[in-house]
Amino acid sequence: MLGDLKRDAEKRGLLTAPGFIDLHAHLREPGFEESETIATGSRAALAGGFTTICAMPNTEPAIDSPGLVAELIARGEAARAARVLPIAAITRGRNGKELADLVELAAAGAVAFSDDGSPVADARLFRNALEYARAAGRPILEHPQDLTLSAGGVMHEGVVSARLGLPGMPAAAEESAVARDLALAKLTGGRLHLSHLSTAGAVELVRHAKAGGLAVSAEVTPHHLALTDEWVAGSRALAWEDGGPRVAPFHTATKVNPPLRTAADVRACWAGLMDGTIDAIATDHAPHASIRKDVEYQEAAFGISVFETAIPLLLAGVAAGWGTWERVVGALTAGPARVLGIELPKNDLVVIDPKVAWTPTATSLRSLGKNTPLLGRSLTGRVVAAVVDGELRHELALA
Ligand SMILES: [Zn+2]
Repeated sequence: MLGDLKRDAEKRGLLTAPGFIDLHAHLREPGFEESETIATGSRAALAGGFTTICAMPNTEPAIDSPGLVAELIARGEAARAARVLPIAAITRGRNGKELADLVELAAAGAVAFSDDGSPVADARLFRNALEYARAAGRPILEHPQDLTLSAGGVMHEGVVSARLGLPGMPAAAEESAVARDLALAKLTGGRLHLSHLSTAGAVELVRHAKAGGLAVSAEVTPHHLALTDEWVAGSRALAWEDGGPRVAPFHTATKVNPPLRTAADVRACWAGLMDGTIDAIATDHAPHASIRKDVEYQEAAFGISVFETAIPLLLAGVAAGWGTWERVVGALTAGPARVLGIELPKNDLVVIDPKVAWTPTATSLRSLGKNTPLLGRSLTGRVVAAVVDGELRHELALA
C-alpha cells in the first residue's frame, strides 16, 4: 500500500517523505482542554504531516508520575491519529525544586524529560537532572531562558521593541542559559537537547560545543525559520521577502516565547540547520483558547498554533534559497529520531503538494488553537496525505 501511494504521488508531481517527528508539542490535555485535546492535537498534527509527536508535560496536573505517563499513552492510542509519545517533567509538579523519579518515568514510557515553559533555574538541580537522565537513558529537553534577564519582556528586545514601546527579552537571556546548559552537559555527560533556539548567538554556542566534541543536540521552530520581530509591528513579510502585506500592529498571535527575532537571527538558524549544528525542526505547537489571546498584547499568553502551517513556511524558505528540502526533511525525520534514540517508523509516509495555494482560516485549521499570525495569509504547499503504521489516517480532498 505504501509503495503504491508513494509511486502514484510522485507520478503526480507531489513530494513524499517518511512521517515527520515533532519533538515539541503542547496538547494541553489534561487540564486545558478548551485550548486543545490529545484527539484534536494529534489530528491537527497529521494534517501538518507529523505522524509522531512528543507531548510536553506542562499540563494540569503535570506529567510527573508513571500513572500519568501511561494514561497519556492510552489516550494517544485511542485517538488513532498521530502517534503520541509522552515527555515527562524533570521536577515534581514542574516546580523546579525537587527531581521527579526519572528512571521510573522512563520505564513507564517517557521518551524524554522537560519542564518546558519553565527552565530549571537552579543549576545544581539541573546538574542532578542530567545525571539521572543519563542513568535513565533519556535526553533532557531544556527550555533555555534566564528568567531574570527576560522578566517583563513580551517580544524580542531590539529596534522594533524600542519603536513600539514594548518591554523586550534580550537575546542574552537565551544565550546565557544555553552557555550554562552546555557547561553542565559537559560536566555530567548527560544527554542535553536544547529546545527552540532562536538567536544567532545561541546557534554559534552550540556550533562551538559540537566542534569540541560535546554530545548535544538542538532544535529550531518553523516560525523562527520564517517570521521576524517586525511581525509584532504588523509586517506579514517572511524573513526573505521585501515589503509584503501589512496588518495592524500588536496582534497577539505574534506573541511567542522565545520571541520572534530579527531577520539576521532567522538567517543564522537556517545556517545552523544546513551545517548540522541544528538537529531537528520542532513545532513548539502551542494552541490557546481565544480567551487567552483576545486581550492586550502585554496580557496575552505566549504561543503560536503551528502544526498545520509548518510545511508551507519551510517550503517557502527553501524556495527563497535559505536551505534545502533534503536537509529540512532530515531535520523532520532522522534528526529527531536520533535525538530520541529511536528508529524511524518504517510504515509512515507523508504526501505533500508543494504547489497548491491555500489560506489558513479559523474553520480550516483542525487544531482548537486558532492563534497563528498566518491566519488569512496565502501560503503555498500543503500536506495532502499521512500514513501511520501502514494506515491512511489523513487525506485532504483538493479541488
Ligand atoms: Zn519552551
